[in-house]
Amino acid sequence: MNKRPVRISEEEKKRQLLAIEEAKRVISSLENELGRPVRACVVTFGCQMNARDSEKLAGILDAAGFWQTPDEDDADFVIFNTCTVRENADNRLYGRIGRLSGIKKQKPHMKIAVCGCMMQEEGAIEKITSSYRHVDLIFGTFNIHRFAELLVTMYASDRVVVDVWKEAGEVAEDLPVIRKYPFKSGVNIMYGCDNFCSFCIVPYVRGRERSRTPDDIVSEITRLAEEGVTEVMLLGQNVNSYGQGLDEEIDFPALLSRVCEIDGIRRVRFMSSHPKDFSDELIDVIAREEKVARHVHLALQSGSDRILALMNRHYTKAHFLSLCDRLRSKAPEVSVTTDILVGFPTETERDVDETIDVIRACAFDNAFTFIYSKRSHTKAALMEEALSEEEVRARNQNAFDRVLCEVQASARRQSAKYLGQTQEVLVEGINAQDPSLLTGRMSNNLLVHFPGNPEDIGTFVHAHLDDCRGFYYLGHKI
Ligand code: SF4
Repeated sequence: MNKRPVRISEEEKKRQLLAIEEAKRVISSLENELGRPVRACVVTFGCQMNARDSEKLAGILDAAGFWQTPDEDDADFVIFNTCTVRENADNRLYGRIGRLSGIKKQKPHMKIAVCGCMMQEEGAIEKITSSYRHVDLIFGTFNIHRFAELLVTMYASDRVVVDVWKEAGEVAEDLPVIRKYPFKSGVNIMYGCDNFCSFCIVPYVRGRERSRTPDDIVSEITRLAEEGVTEVMLLGQNVNSYGQGLDEEIDFPALLSRVCEIDGIRRVRFMSSHPKDFSDELIDVIAREEKVARHVHLALQSGSDRILALMNRHYTKAHFLSLCDRLRSKAPEVSVTTDILVGFPTETERDVDETIDVIRACAFDNAFTFIYSKRSHTKAALMEEALSEEEVRARNQNAFDRVLCEVQASARRQSAKYLGQTQEVLVEGINAQDPSLLTGRMSNNLLVHFPGNPEDIGTFVHAHLDDCRGFYYLGHKI
């Protein structure tokens, strides 16, 4: 398979910077017309990749002169950054777009955009342009760097603007970004996925794997560190296959080591890891480099070899168990979390027993458990079940309850291990439920809430873990 690197274009960047200037003029004239600031709301669905894309969208909106609001009813421009991993997410999105139609009638200057993974799917554009005619702009995952230009076109047009690319082209980097947290940031190291797991639509909507060069990644993180970022999360659909197709010979463990050398960066996380490509070299780097967070997320999906083969995951239960073992023995303080998909077509109780076996053997620190839902345009969607729909639903619910019970018991046991310890935490903010408390995240990804001074937000402090509440701690600052 021919792998390609991310193609960066300076020309494209210049074009987008000019478009930002033009967008500024458009928004300033709208501001004069309205006699108040123009407000934009970015609504994000889905994963960390989408969250990072939304920070890029917010950066362009800010540079163009929009004020940001979290309230879509109050906004003059609403952009939905969509996810398509689960089919019912589509229905939720359509409900929200539909609801804005009434609001837009009272605010004729209002604009609505839809972008992201769902727009890359067959049929999505037709559905929106025919049933949601109040949408003004549609674009996909491959041309998000062109957002400024698309904004200008949208404001100049009285018809819907549609620009969805079928595959990745040249991109512009280093455009304005607004980070949710000033002290931590996601950094894309690669885009797309080549794995084609049979239940997943990502390779079809985010394209084939493309890696950024290590120099581009290191200079972005160096700049972030200069701006005060101390924690980075390296992002990719499968970071373990980073580097393929680049001129320079480099793999993910080597990149991770390079990132750890950057002054000012104190914690490095990464997401997502595919068990089939998780190498011993990577385990060595995790064990060696103190800056690498003591947390690995490793999606198991199923413990049954038969189901893993149907899922096209390219590993076996034995491989996963041995990987977990090697990781735990070389870096025992690392917490291991996972994703589990129950109810895959034809799954039996015996298959679920195999999954439960792995949960017990790996002693996961936490797990996201999902019930399989059919995703159109994937191979799994064509797999036949011998049972009726009702029987499948009952079987899946039973399997889900069994798996959930196991992962919760495992997570409780694992979390309790830290009771009485003092841990370094990065203070992320004020506790949403109790404003007298701050919330900090340990290197192993557990949260601790403790009384403190908001001035500590964005800094590393030491917290004593006084009381384990299942999946988080109450503590006090040392
Ligand atoms: S590794 Fe599999 S599940 Fe993950 S994005 Fe790629 S195809 Fe989807």
